[in-house]
Amino acid sequence: MSGEVNGVRETVVVARHLLPAGMQPLRGRFEVVEGGLDATRPRLLELVPGAAALVADPAVPVDAELLDACGPGLRVVANFAVGYDNIDLDACRERGVVVANTPDVLTQATAELALALTLAAARRLSEAERDLRAGRWTGWDPAAYRGLELRGGTVGVVGLGRIGLRYAELVAALGAEVLYVARSAKPAAERELGARRLELAALLEAADVVSIHAPAGPETRHLIGERELGLIGSGGVLVNTSRGSLVDERALAAALAGGRLGAAGLDVYEDEPSVAEELLAAPNAVLLPHIGSASVASRDAMALLAADSVIAVLDGREPPSRVA
Ligand code: NAP
Repeated sequence: MSGEVNGVRETVVVARHLLPAGMQPLRGRFEVVEGGLDATRPRLLELVPGAAALVADPAVPVDAELLDACGPGLRVVANFAVGYDNIDLDACRERGVVVANTPDVLTQATAELALALTLAAARRLSEAERDLRAGRWTGWDPAAYRGLELRGGTVGVVGLGRIGLRYAELVAALGAEVLYVARSAKPAAERELGARRLELAALLEAADVVSIHAPAGPETRHLIGERELGLIGSGGVLVNTSRGSLVDERALAAALAGGRLGAAGLDVYEDEPSVAEELLAAPNAVLLPHIGSASVASRDAMALLAADSVIAVLDGREPPSRVA
């Protein structure tokens, strides 16, 4: 029976937590061990020896130390995310470990969240709600909380991949003009949405809203820093649902505090789960706790896809989505 070696069930270690949609197919075939959401690094190092598969997530750095702690029987790391910046791909390749992720099934949920952050930041929803809850609302005021409308506005998408494209379709449907930056041209988006490809600096200058959807990595670290924030400008909105490392958070907090950037909508941070005090203090920032893919449908589908990847590789097949 697959899932067994010499009559002994193989072990799948879930570093933190996997939803029932993913647990169920694994439990029938393997010995499954879960670290729990509060699993510390030392606890994880204790848990993984002998693992044939490791299910990780963006909060779990998968490096040479962890791979070596798993031992030579490890064949697959299934990441419960589309981004895989938490994984040392070279270290996995060197050890013959397959790496899989969960693309597509979270595209709609994450694009919708980016749209929600766009609207919330552009229309100052957090600021207005905070005032109401604190009893600072003194009555209808024609001049209060005035923000940006998307219709007739210009939205710059940095990284027109799966999520960036879906987000572009959503803002285009609301009447925004779409600009984009990507490594390669996207003729279908240009044809169907009228999207225009620009260099990053030109996009930042032209856009009212800039939404980040490029992956994290050495190439994109602090892609948006002090200079870039200045180009977006005091009337502009920055949205980031990609990864915290793409934006220089100190520069962002300073730009918001100094009025050099209009507003920001963030789902991701440089040092999660801690969030810089200066950002927490910024009135014109909408801050969410990394919930881009957190719809019921998306998270269940991600869990199932991560389990499918484990089962495929341990059965000697290609996983549905392989990144290394
Ligand atoms: P994707 O389909 O691979 O799209 C990434 C896009 O970024 C591609 O269009 C790529 O261009 C572009 N790109 C790559 N390097 C770039 C650079 N240096 N400058 C500008 N653009 C660059 O990935 P996806 O599925 O849309 O996911 C995007 C990211 O969203 C993931 O990496 C992940 O970190 C993040 N994410 C976050 C959440 C959340 O919970 N907040 C949920 C899901 C995903 P080419 O097409 O030309 O190669």
